[in-house]
Amino acid sequence: MVEYDLVIKNARIRGKPSDRVYTIAVEGKRIAKITPENGIHGNLEIDAKGFLVVPPFFNAHFHLDSVLTLGEPRFNESGTLWEGIAIWAERKQKLTMDEMLSRVEKAVKWMAVYGTLWIRTHADTTEKTLTTVKGLVKAKELFKDLINIQVTAFPQDGILTEPENAELLEKSIELGADNVGMIPHNEHTRFDGAKSVEIAFDIAEKYNKDIDGHVDETDDPWSRNFEVVVRETFKRKYYGRVAAGHVTASHSWDPVYRNRIFGLAAKAGVSIVPNPLINIHLQGRFDNYPKRRGMAPIRIALEKGVNVALGHDCVMDPWYPLGVGDMLQVLFMAVHVDQLMGYSELKKALDLITVNGAKIWHIEREYGIEEGKNANMLILKGRDELDALRILGPPLYVIKDGALLADNTGGESKIFYKGKWERVELFL
Ligand SMILES: [Zn+2]
Repeated sequence: MVEYDLVIKNARIRGKPSDRVYTIAVEGKRIAKITPENGIHGNLEIDAKGFLVVPPFFNAHFHLDSVLTLGEPRFNESGTLWEGIAIWAERKQKLTMDEMLSRVEKAVKWMAVYGTLWIRTHADTTEKTLTTVKGLVKAKELFKDLINIQVTAFPQDGILTEPENAELLEKSIELGADNVGMIPHNEHTRFDGAKSVEIAFDIAEKYNKDIDGHVDETDDPWSRNFEVVVRETFKRKYYGRVAAGHVTASHSWDPVYRNRIFGLAAKAGVSIVPNPLINIHLQGRFDNYPKRRGMAPIRIALEKGVNVALGHDCVMDPWYPLGVGDMLQVLFMAVHVDQLMGYSELKKALDLITVNGAKIWHIEREYGIEEGKNANMLILKGRDELDALRILGPPLYVIKDGALLADNTGGESKIFYKGKWERVELFL
């Protein structure tokens, strides 16, 4: 007798005893039942063969506007942030809505196939036509069957560096962006940096939006805009609504200072979002050997009680030439760079691309593999978190809202899109 829409058998479930397997029964978009019993049936049945089922991944920081533009108009030969910015300034001139959306469509298919179902993208608001913002706001609706997108209005060149930039930032929120961004370390002085943080919070408060900044993305130990972000969070009672991307300078801060500020950030509920692939690639470029690692110290932040989630930042663009959108690759880099290699640390590390992202998105209550929660799941290629990090992606199956979205069995990647299955190729 058919009872459920979808039944997954022989599943190990993250957070449950690892020596047992379960049956997960899905009805509509919800997980109806999780049981050790095996005699349950569904319209579609998947044998998980003892592999680990986890909730899908979050990519808490990304730039969809520049994604898959690698080599246009030229390659970044020095591998520096500055050559990347110069190349993007040229590429931006040729940006159109259609060509951007076709790149975004391809990129979000890659990400969905690799198990990411939530992505926070920045949209460059210093691109004066705001094609970036309009296009990415449109992408949210266009690609909602593949992935959940939030758009952060991101003043790439600064808020105070040009007279119209603050206005463009606010206009982007009116055009439908979800979060307010900032880049205080890119303002001309530290005073302007502090002022720009206040302006971003003013806009966020006015429109009741969350804050999602690029903060202190530099190796400069005196880059300390993060403390202003934390202060404003207290001042405006914005607890739990603020995320600071990168914060790479915190790697180089004096430990006494870092401990104090991280403690305050934890109290204010300010999240930190390192981007390990890009941080290890772009930071430390002015250093001789030995080179600093240039990633926010995740272990210390977690010890102080800060919520830490990871971002992929870029895939095949002027800043990062590699990537397929696999958050397991991001996590793999993070655990190496920060030496989160203890057994318990490796087991816990998956939180950085799952539940900690859900906290930033404010959906912890409906997120996870539990009865009554939304039926979003990955069946990974391994029996535990260590296997997942050894073998990496893509997962065997991706389930979104109770239905099969991606199937990576049988030697190829397939995605269910616009009513049919299609093959996904990982090339430009
Ligand atoms: Zn970024």
